[in-house]
Amino acid sequence: ATMPPLLSAMANAGRHGVLVKSAIVMERLGQIDAVALDKTGTLTEGTPRLTDLRPLAASDGEGPALDENTLLRYAAAAEHPSEHPLARAVVAAARARGLDLPPAEDFGSTPGTGVTATVEGRAVAVGSPARLLHGLHGPAHPAAVLAAELEEEGRTAVVVTLDGRPAGVLAIADRLRPDAALTTRALGELTGRAPVLVTGDNPRAAARLAAEAGITDVRAGLLPQDKVAAVRELQQAGARVLVVGDGVNDAPALAAAHTGIAMGRAGSDLALETADAVVVRDELAAIPAVVALSRRARAFVV
Ligand code: ADP
Ligand code: MG
Repeated sequence: ATMPPLLSAMANAGRHGVLVKSAIVMERLGQIDAVALDKTGTLTEGTPRLTDLRPLAASDGEGPALDENTLLRYAAAAEHPSEHPLARAVVAAARARGLDLPPAEDFGSTPGTGVTATVEGRAVAVGSPARLLHGLHGPAHPAAVLAAELEEEGRTAVVVTLDGRPAGVLAIADRLRPDAALTTRALGELTGRAPVLVTGDNPRAAARLAAEAGITDVRAGLLPQDKVAAVRELQQAGARVLVVGDGVNDAPALAAAHTGIAMGRAGSDLALETADAVVVRDELAAIPAVVALSRRARAFVV
């Protein structure tokens, strides 16, 4: 017997390392005419490394700066329960220095913002400078100024607060996937429209990375619901949107999309469950390949 075209396309997608969850999804993949891509873990490899560790003295003169290892130890202990790529970078750096990590109590995480925990009786928060500092301390706070400097170099800066006081800034950098530029170009050609970058990261680091990936339409500093709004905006213009993401913060946008694809290797469980298809082998270039497969199969169906 010959296999129905959509089923053989699904088998073919599997050979490209893409798990397509149903024949309906296989069909819908070929209908997309706009693409929104996440940055961290999607366009980038998702294995970021800690590049800078900067303790800060209390600005009110209330105390000296912590030493580097103490700052890193608190940050890593608070990040330990998180599955975010930034959290993994912080924990890996602490391990590389042989630091033992005390347990995190009352752990909480806010997608697009950061984590909070109690570590050895102290309240620790690690996260976005914009969200942790700007409301409370303003953009002129030394921690915010240092963070902006690091972001200017294309890195992601996160602030560590101890009992509410900014205690230091960490910077983390990730590499663009080798097939990112090729993939965004192929998706642009297939859909007739340049892909959009939707990221929770800061605009400086986002613009730098987008340029390397050949993307000019950049929406940065987005919370999960802002990513949904960006998708809806494209939909209101009549587009059927493909969303590609990896994080918990991408799940609402993956659900709102015409078709959602999650990056499998570093992807969060929620993203993998919410997405319609999963790139199991982490090759971005497999995405335009399966869109093309869907179009060929649909040409058979109709
Ligand atoms: P992206 O959209 O690029 O995948 P996210 O929405 O996951 O980024 O994160 C956006 C920002 O929120 C990060 O750049 C960081 O400032 C902050 N953030 C989120 N999760 C964490 C975490 N576990 N530790 C530190 N910062 C975090
Ligand atoms: Mg991500």
